[in-house]
Amino acid sequence: MNALTTRIREAILTDGPMPISLFMLMCLHDRRDGYYATRPAFNRDFTTAPETSQVFGELLGAWAAHEWQALGSPNPFHLVELGPGRAAMMADLLRATRNIPGFHDDALITLVEASPILRRVQTERLAPHAVTFADSLEAAPPGPAIILANEFLDCLPVRQYVRAEGANGGQWRERSVGLSRDGQLQFGVGLPADLPPDLTPQADEAEAAPALETIADAIARRFATSPGRALFLDYGPMKATPGDTLRAFENGKQVHPLANPGHSDLTADVDFARLKRLCEKAGLAVYGPVEQGYFLNRLGAGQRAMALARANPERGKEIVESAMRLVAEEDMGSRFKAICITPAATTAPAGFE
Ligand code: SAH
Repeated sequence: MNALTTRIREAILTDGPMPISLFMLMCLHDRRDGYYATRPAFNRDFTTAPETSQVFGELLGAWAAHEWQALGSPNPFHLVELGPGRAAMMADLLRATRNIPGFHDDALITLVEASPILRRVQTERLAPHAVTFADSLEAAPPGPAIILANEFLDCLPVRQYVRAEGANGGQWRERSVGLSRDGQLQFGVGLPADLPPDLTPQADEAEAAPALETIADAIARRFATSPGRALFLDYGPMKATPGDTLRAFENGKQVHPLANPGHSDLTADVDFARLKRLCEKAGLAVYGPVEQGYFLNRLGAGQRAMALARANPERGKEIVESAMRLVAEEDMGSRFKAICITPAATTAPAGFE
């Protein structure tokens, strides 16, 4: 049994079954044994868009510079990234924008990153650019901001709810992680629970990340006093409320979420419709979600890939193929979505017109 499993078992023996969200939090962020807290790279477990093709970060660079100009080129402004991982996107973004007058001089880079190891990787990868770290979006310094996040929302802990059949039919209960008779971790159904009021379940299962509320709130507070844009790219359905979408990945394969806590990446679909509702309720404007393929194509993914391939003919085929994975319907193009949040009454951001 691995060290984290032992501690999760002890917590359950002391305190009873734990919500899925606490299990996720421990698996991903436990200081000693958490997945992100202990890994400088996760390449073999999953591959993200910026790790797939440099075109991704370059297009987001063009997007960020365009939106900064649309805000009136505020100086200074905060370039904030949530969950930068190995900083591939920010590195490509910075390279692609180095000739845009004023953009680098005016940008104060803030990275919201939980993992101490990844903070070190990011600092090294982005040198000589100076970066500041924050523990959360709320803690990022105030002021005009372009906020970016790729595959950040999908690792926010989710709570899960199931509606039981039978005598108590119609009663929602919270799913939990408990112990079987022989002491193994197992999923179970815990105490009756109220669904978050804004959740619109499709069937007898529902899933919600409490942190979406915090994020909507943090963006609303920022944008109430300073202009900005917040762009999220991630996977999840366009409209439906996710049911049980908790998944674990290890060495590129899907594994059981309880099989190897702390050694597999845990993820859940993003409820874009709920994020949109929460932001609109907080008085923000929301553009999208649109499919990632649509968004990146509007920013010129094809042209950028061709230009890169022409400049590097020996790698041309590989460059075009990896860039096409970002936009292809059957690949990342339709499973991933882009959503942009702005203060009320702004013109549509690039890619969302
Ligand atoms: N954006 C990167 C990495 C995605 S992996 C890419 O596309 O390649 C998720 C990242 O979010 C990791 O850097 C992880 O440590 C960070 N992260 C996850 N949950 C977080 C939280 N609650 N607060 C801060 N960072 C978090």
